[in-house]
Amino acid sequence: MTLRIVLATHNPHKVEEFGAIVAATRPDIEVIGYDGPEPVEDGTTFADNALIKARTACAYTGLPALADDSGVCVDVLGGSPGVFSAYWAGHRKDAVANLELLLDQLSDIADPHRSAQFVSSIALVRPDGRGTVVEGRWPGRLAREAAGVGGFGYDPIFIPDGQPAGAERTVAEWSAEEKNTHSHRARAFTALVPLLAEL
Ligand code: IMP
Repeated sequence: MTLRIVLATHNPHKVEEFGAIVAATRPDIEVIGYDGPEPVEDGTTFADNALIKARTACAYTGLPALADDSGVCVDVLGGSPGVFSAYWAGHRKDAVANLELLLDQLSDIADPHRSAQFVSSIALVRPDGRGTVVEGRWPGRLAREAAGVGGFGYDPIFIPDGQPAGAERTVAEWSAEEKNTHSHRARAFTALVPLLAEL
């Protein structure tokens, strides 16, 4: 029997990416999108915001709800943009303006000090009100300039750790499959799988 879980996001990229990650491990779970009211994301951590979104979607649909809150955390900026990643260059949420501002801010910073992480918190809220949060981190560094056309958000300026020297690529130059295997969301999802088994 297919189990339906609602994913509390209006971002079609995330539904696609998340659906692929879920299907790889639990083909019996159908992840459906959410078209209900959006809560104010006034949490100060990824975990808080993920729980706020999952609780809203669970209450609206009556289904178990997943929500991801994520962003990029740059060490030399003390972990910013962090929860402000989506609107770092203003509330118009312009992804290109966001990454251009970040590159500009780090223009004098040399490679060894450009370390950063993508971070994803995923909240699972069950219809009985129980909520759990897991986290995934994907370490890397910021590129000096944008490269690649895949993915979304900060992908064109994020170079994941662990690539062969001289052949490093930004996430926007990776295939969707590669990203789905290694990403912060994939890592958080690995931590979530045991919780899904309880549903
Ligand atoms: P939210 O989780 O929908 O609040 O998104 C936060 C923001 O973090 C997004 O708008 C992107 O700017 C950034 N972000 C989160 N995950 C990724 C990713 O996988 N690639 C690139 N940017 C990301």
